[in-house]
Amino acid sequence: MQSVDSYRDEIIGALTPLAAAEISLTDADGAVLAADVTTAWPLPGFDNSAMDGYAVMAADVQTASEDNPVTLPVTAEVAAGDTTGRALASGRTIKIMTGALLPADADAVVPVEWTDGGSDTVTITRPAEKGHAVRRTGDDAMPGDLLLTAGTRLGPAQIGVLAAAGHGSVLAHRRPRAAVISTGNELSEPGSPLVPGLIWDSNSYMLASAARAAGCDVIRHAVVRDDPAAVLAAIELAAATADLLITSGGVSMGGEHDAVKAALSILGTVAFRKVAMQPGMPQGFGLLGSPPHTPIFTLPGNPVSALVSFRVFVEPAVRALQNLSAERLAPRRSKLAAPASSPAGRRSFLRGVFDPRAGTVTPLTGQGSHQIASMARANVLIIVPEEVTALKAGVEVDILDIP
Ligand code: AMP
Ligand code: MG
Repeated sequence: MQSVDSYRDEIIGALTPLAAAEISLTDADGAVLAADVTTAWPLPGFDNSAMDGYAVMAADVQTASEDNPVTLPVTAEVAAGDTTGRALASGRTIKIMTGALLPADADAVVPVEWTDGGSDTVTITRPAEKGHAVRRTGDDAMPGDLLLTAGTRLGPAQIGVLAAAGHGSVLAHRRPRAAVISTGNELSEPGSPLVPGLIWDSNSYMLASAARAAGCDVIRHAVVRDDPAAVLAAIELAAATADLLITSGGVSMGGEHDAVKAALSILGTVAFRKVAMQPGMPQGFGLLGSPPHTPIFTLPGNPVSALVSFRVFVEPAVRALQNLSAERLAPRRSKLAAPASSPAGRRSFLRGVFDPRAGTVTPLTGQGSHQIASMARANVLIIVPEEVTALKAGVEVDILDIP
């Protein structure tokens, strides 16, 4: 049997990141920057008002008070989007809205709340310091400043700053397109009537969700029967529009019903392994087609095995396709709240409930690899190392977060 770490290293070593390409902002969500991004312009790009009020020279209103208000003529009005360059004369004001271009020579904005809100003249009851309610050119970023570094996964704030700096597109690794295929004669569609001997296909929905949560665009394909020719045809079709294929089922120890193994063994580019883990021992990984190859993961059919395999092998691979390290997926430490056991020679991934307040983790009962209900109650996987068969309550353990 191969160790979990060496199998994962082999997979990551075989993957090439998706080619970086110019990606439009509308499609950049979840993409990973392939180059640093700087701004060519100052942010903000011009002095502007932070409030609705009156642009003034601060010296003209420095004596203003409730008892001794200052009244000044209003010579113009400027709103956000008005590109007319205006200049302010001493002893006058220009009515100004939030985001509007500050008139030349104005050095403060008196908020409308400190005035009578007048249109021809305005009566001001409080002084405004120089710079009050003024957003200065470049106070957020200056031309040439680094906004985002290569390797940043783009989320709302990152996309916001790209747009604010005028970038319509960025050089990035796109979200990988994952194709998900369930195999098995026993599978029927959730929502259809229950037939004894058949089960509803959970894996394709579950793995599609996992792939989406990992940052992929997902195509979930129809269930494929346990027929090597049908499996091969489905895989070839799916590979045409995907950067990564994920199948489930049909890779057990090589029985005649293991159609995925039978179909892909012919190609010779997919290796089937026994990995020293529980659940998830039977694994397959390889590359399909000509360069750039399409990686394929053939996950075992038991739902818990499939999801654990996704977390341990596929998720780091998704990151590698976007040229990201798997660091963020590393385990963290917790304390066992109850004893746990595990077979010798295999790394166990036990379903557990992590209590963030106590900082402890409790293994769930029902650790069978078909027991998806207990998986749905878990929020972490507890890792029991290969050489350990029993853990006492109170010991420190590694845990993996699950989506
Ligand atoms: P296999 O890996 O095909 O030998 O399947 C192992 C176990 O997982 C069997 O009990 C299957 O019925 C079950 N199984 C396989 N595929 C799925 C699926 N898509 N959804 C739920 N259970 C599955
Ligand atoms: Mg099967």
